[in-house]
Amino acid sequence: MAKHRITIAIDGHSSAGKSTMAKALAKELNYVYVDTGAMYRGVTLYAMKERLVMNGEVDEEGLIRSLERLFLTFRFNPNTECSEMYLSGVNIEKEIRTMEVAKNVSLVSKIPAVRTKLVAKQRRMAEGSGVVMDGRDIGTVVLPNADLKFFMTADPEVRAWRRLRELQENGKDVTYNEVLENVLERDRLDSERAVAPLKQAKDAIVIDNSNLTTEEQYEFMLNITKKRMEEV
Ligand code: C5P
Repeated sequence: MAKHRITIAIDGHSSAGKSTMAKALAKELNYVYVDTGAMYRGVTLYAMKERLVMNGEVDEEGLIRSLERLFLTFRFNPNTECSEMYLSGVNIEKEIRTMEVAKNVSLVSKIPAVRTKLVAKQRRMAEGSGVVMDGRDIGTVVLPNADLKFFMTADPEVRAWRRLRELQENGKDVTYNEVLENVLERDRLDSERAVAPLKQAKDAIVIDNSNLTTEEQYEFMLNITKKRMEEV
């Protein structure tokens, strides 16, 4: 039986299934799960509501000025057994998963002041151990000393089909091409930005899940995690 509680960083491309794996591992191990993408989506929704993002342009100075009024928190929902995102006390979990937010989030997440604020919060949330955190810069910037790092990817078409199914299951009216375009555009913007770009940490274990079922991938990741828990 594994002994030590560790810190696990999961990074990777958009819609590569990071949160599905992170949630499943956290549940199995009774760890805290931190969805950092939800935090960037939360800031983006806030900026959209404040009319600081319009027609694909961000009022960067206005957003930076209003960051001190931004109050994002996670609250655990015992019915879904998941943490949900709240903005100033209002549940925004559904609203942050729309295509409108997805289309703007990479523009907001490349702003250094936004990242500084969220990274500080993410590090506080990872204090202690027994944490699974997923995002784009967790193994490289947020938790460079994480005990275990995964980098997940899959062919863009496979990721777009999976994300389309998920959006449609939640009643969203979107097309495959729209989703594929968004997945590719976010990968591009997230990888090319100056601050904390999406990239593989040198010590990350890479998983291309294009041809893996969720179960196969989960078994693989759980086995590696258990081994690592014995080692540290
Ligand atoms: O993981 P998810 O797809 O919800 O992330 C939404 C967006 O948030 C990403 O496309 C990226 O722009 C941003 N993000 C980030 N750094 C993280 C997590 C997410 O820049 N650690």
